[in-house]
Amino acid sequence: MGKITENYNKLISSLPENVELVAVSKTKSPEEIMEVYQCGHRVFGESKAQELVPKYQQLPKDIKWHMVGHLQSNKVKHIAHFVTMIHSVDSFKLLRTINKEGKKHNRVIDCLLQMHIAEEDTKYGLDLQEAIDILSSEDFKNLQNIRIRGLMCMATFTENSQQVHREFQTLTGYFHTLKERFFKDETAFSERSMGMSNDFPIALKESSTMIRVGSHIFGERPPVKN
Ligand SMILES: *Cc1c(COP(=O)(O)O)cnc(C)c1O
Repeated sequence: MGKITENYNKLISSLPENVELVAVSKTKSPEEIMEVYQCGHRVFGESKAQELVPKYQQLPKDIKWHMVGHLQSNKVKHIAHFVTMIHSVDSFKLLRTINKEGKKHNRVIDCLLQMHIAEEDTKYGLDLQEAIDILSSEDFKNLQNIRIRGLMCMATFTENSQQVHREFQTLTGYFHTLKERFFKDETAFSERSMGMSNDFPIALKESSTMIRVGSHIFGERPPVKN
């Protein structure tokens, strides 16, 4: 059994049933992705549109592709016809663009609002008030081709597990606040996408419903070049 298969099987068998695993395959080859596919897994995540599109084209069409990384509005058109969920909605402009592109393809695209919860200020995301402003605007009510399924966040990359617990608790608090105010009767608003290779055990304790795990399955990635 290959190392990737071994990692995947160990992880998937340890997850609570109600938690979805998004296998984050950025920088990984089609062969490596197929190793996880052969285990029966179908939900994969990528963080760049330009990497996601060729993988979508090459790989089996029953894969559910999640866009987890920062997304520029001008890239939405390349993924709108197939993407299953966009985790990284961090502006109203982006949301409007997703709606427009969804409409062209007669689709309703599932989205998560990416919230800024990390104590470090380098990460993307909305603060609570910005999310409230979007959700309470008249404009938002006219968006028929997107559906907000919940929230996503990235915690600070730190050894301080107390801090990571705290940050995930903040996301859960935001989730309940927004649920109560805007999505009370909408069962579709149910997801908390939190937890990556280094912090998913903490996220699971803090009621994550979706973890985005890459290197813990596929092995370390080469350092990012931007
Ligand atoms: C790369 C990435 C992940 C997965 O990271 P790992 O540390 O490899 O598990 C999760 N979420 C986002 C947004 C990412 O860009």
